[in-house]
Amino acid sequence: MAARPLIYPGSVDAAGRPATLGVLGGGQLGRMFVHAAQRLGYLTAVLEPDAQSPAGLVSHHHIQTAYDDPAGLAQLAGLCQAITTEFENVPAQALQTLAHTRPVAPGAAVVGIAQNRIEEKAHFTACADVSGVTCAPYAVIETPAHLQAVCTERPDLLPGILKTARLGYDGKGQVRVQTADALAAAWAELGGVACVLEKMLPLTAECSVLVARGWDGQVVVFAPQRNVHVDGILALTHAYEGAVPPPLAARAAAAAVAIAQHLDYVGVLCVEFFVVDDGSAHGGLVVNEMAPRPHNSGHYTLDACSASQFDLQVHAMTGLPLPQPRQHSPAIMLNLLGEVWFDASGQPQEPDWQAVLRLPGTHLHLYGKAQARPGRKMGHLTITGPDVANVKAVARRAAELLNLPGLDFM
Ligand code: ATP
Ligand code: MG
Repeated sequence: MAARPLIYPGSVDAAGRPATLGVLGGGQLGRMFVHAAQRLGYLTAVLEPDAQSPAGLVSHHHIQTAYDDPAGLAQLAGLCQAITTEFENVPAQALQTLAHTRPVAPGAAVVGIAQNRIEEKAHFTACADVSGVTCAPYAVIETPAHLQAVCTERPDLLPGILKTARLGYDGKGQVRVQTADALAAAWAELGGVACVLEKMLPLTAECSVLVARGWDGQVVVFAPQRNVHVDGILALTHAYEGAVPPPLAARAAAAAVAIAQHLDYVGVLCVEFFVVDDGSAHGGLVVNEMAPRPHNSGHYTLDACSASQFDLQVHAMTGLPLPQPRQHSPAIMLNLLGEVWFDASGQPQEPDWQAVLRLPGTHLHLYGKAQARPGRKMGHLTITGPDVANVKAVARRAAELLNLPGLDFM
């Protein structure tokens, strides 16, 4: 295994190579990582099969191969002094291969856990004593016998959500089921692959926490943000004091740190939580899932904090100290999905950026994707301002201008 790194920006290694950081995956998270790394003075390399990827377009090097291509991985390792990933569905084996010669953060083992809901839930359960949170009641369905057993023995899990163990994102690979018959049909519809059936919980809110942890165990944590999903996709993030009630926020932050420590995690980790009505004053906290990378709900940190989630990703992987981020403005982030590029009759239209950017405190981030498609994350808009009321008012107006559907700004 490669030793713990200390890679200074702008430096040159013994072989004469300029300090270069690599990322597996070329999406928008990779693009924002590349921007953060370059701002600090690193060169970057992106491994991504797509010729026109958001990150590949802005990186010094773009290795255009499959994520598990041995020659592509060798080229990445040859160029880079440390490597990270920008999406969790990159083959864990690729990270394993890279780790033989280069520091890789997060490591293959933890990415492998986050890639599989069954392992992920087992991890959450294993560290529930230290984290203080459990996941929603669930059962694993991998075989027809499991399905049969769940149908007869676990009526408590219905109504529920059947989720594929692997490769789910943005609500994909999920079916909501009310009855045992519907469950059987849904499992067949998902191809009979390994799944978990999760009890449908009465959510009062959702929140997430970003943690960064270094090779030396140093941990910093952002304040929890509150997330609003529409059709299983993140639509809106509220990031300001009080967005999550302080007692819950404190519990969520502590739980996320405990989960990261229990994994011996290095890098940026996002832990998502449900807030459920359990009769208590602020509701109960249930851990949903984790992403072994920066997260959509942390994009506001680019404009509202002294260090962003991507800055911390760079610091963590290179062995630089982790600055404790300070949020200097209240913020709301609006996701800009492909729908924004079409009018009510389905005709393509350019969003009215003039009107949107005339609003005070708006920060537009577009990811360089050429083609808008419904549900595709094209960019985001962060609104910062002097106080929460101001930020909400501007966000509401921006959402109107962009025709974003019925969002909850409370
Ligand atoms: P992403 O990767 O985009 O966060 P995902 O596809 O991995 O999403 P989940 O986070 O599991 O999916 O679920 C997506 C959304 O569906 C949640 O944010 C929540 O709004 C809703 N949801 C999921 N599980 C439950 C549940 N057990 N009870 C109630 N609502 C749920
Ligand atoms: Mg989720």
